[in-house]
Amino acid sequence: MSDEPHVEIYTKTDCPYCEKAKDLFDSKGVDYVTYNVTGDEERFAEMTERANGRETAPEVFVDDELIGGWDDTSALDATGELDEKLGIAADGGSDGDVVEHRRLIVAGTGIAALTAGIYAARSDNEPLLFEGDEPGGQLTLTSEVDNYPGFPEGINGATLVNDMKEQAKRFGAEIEHGIIADVDDDVRPFRVTLENGDVYTADAVIAASGASARTLGIPGEDELMGYGVSTCATCDGAFFRGEDMVVVGGGDAAAEEAVFLTKFAETVYLVHRRDELRAEDYWENRVQEKVESGDIEVLWNTEATEIHGSQEDGVDSVDVVYNPEGHPTAKLDDPATESRSLDVGAFFVAIGHTPNTSYLEDTGVELDDEGYLRTQGGHGGGQTKTDVDGIFGAGDVVDYHYQQAVTAAGMGSKAALDADEYLESEAVETAAEGSAEAPADD
Ligand code: NDP
Repeated sequence: MSDEPHVEIYTKTDCPYCEKAKDLFDSKGVDYVTYNVTGDEERFAEMTERANGRETAPEVFVDDELIGGWDDTSALDATGELDEKLGIAADGGSDGDVVEHRRLIVAGTGIAALTAGIYAARSDNEPLLFEGDEPGGQLTLTSEVDNYPGFPEGINGATLVNDMKEQAKRFGAEIEHGIIADVDDDVRPFRVTLENGDVYTADAVIAASGASARTLGIPGEDELMGYGVSTCATCDGAFFRGEDMVVVGGGDAAAEEAVFLTKFAETVYLVHRRDELRAEDYWENRVQEKVESGDIEVLWNTEATEIHGSQEDGVDSVDVVYNPEGHPTAKLDDPATESRSLDVGAFFVAIGHTPNTSYLEDTGVELDDEGYLRTQGGHGGGQTKTDVDGIFGAGDVVDYHYQQAVTAAGMGSKAALDADEYLESEAVETAAEGSAEAPADD
């Protein structure tokens, strides 16, 4: 490249999305400069000014043009526009040309996908893992993982994921950035189309694409996302040092985020729609300790209804409603329902996730109403099989109950073993012979 693009990334310490942005440019072989804004007020002010008031890291610039945060950058990458801005020629296929045939494609690079990658690579199935919008999955957003076996002192989520990546690569797994838009299961090998138009074929597919954070859908939430509203406390908490903050939710994630944010917040309001948490005892106890020390105030039977503020000045206040019986937004006409406004500077949503399975909607794989895959389960092998031979599911795309890193890893290994059995079967060999004669794209 004669005209190298000038890529600048504003980062902060302990910022999983900053690592994702850097990984993306690394994977493209594009050089960049980073500016760490943690503890550097001048740089932070420079970043917010260049990023039109946004106060989250990373902020990415290409040739002085604001690309935005991780979501914006990966969205632009998915359409191929980022490569255009970087002056990178598309690597091979577009408009349906097959870029490459693989024995096994794995959707995702979270714990389930990476474990599948380790096992599949060791079985000589040469897996290609596609890393989507949230490389490394949800665990990269967790600061401390204390319940993954083998780490008596606990381990940082991003470190665990990066170590697994290295382990998978050591056995020959390959990881590429790409968002799968569609899987065609009418043909063998399967045709796997990415959002940028590239098409891969694969003898087998493991769906391990995880789940994405849910949002509340209340006024102010979308407009202020990235300007004081966030779904990742570990990413953005430090930006609001000294402010009062809200965390919405009552599960492990909300409890963990509320405890984490006490490092920075004056007071954390944990807003939960019922009168008891569903978090495990460990997190409940830690919340209770912080309540006793005055760092967390739990607002039981309370829901947020509107977030006020502006992109220039961030979050200003949050309207909440309370009803002694819980679920107050369903009881707005009840005289017992009370409203109040919380004067806070940040708002974190931790209300669970929805599975990333839209690319399987047009296949024969059965999805439930929320988009979770149906797999076979039960005793013996084949537990990760879906309704389509050769497509397997693992991790949070299947499991709406346990949703633990260790269960996702276990399911990832099962999916790779089930896929290996399938790949060794006669049906695949016959299909592969057929496909060698006729390219799959016409
Ligand atoms: P959960 O589904 O466990 O909890 C979601 C919470 O959000 C619930 O309390 C729910 O309320 C509340 N909620 C859902 N929708 C709304 C809404 N529209 N308005 C207000 N509140 C809402 O999700 P988590 O992300 O917390 O956890 C998912 C999985 O990940 C769990 O299995 C958990 O154990 C695991 N995890 C483990 C961690 C650990 O350290 N071990 C850390 C983080 C997650 P309600 O209770 O009324 O349904």
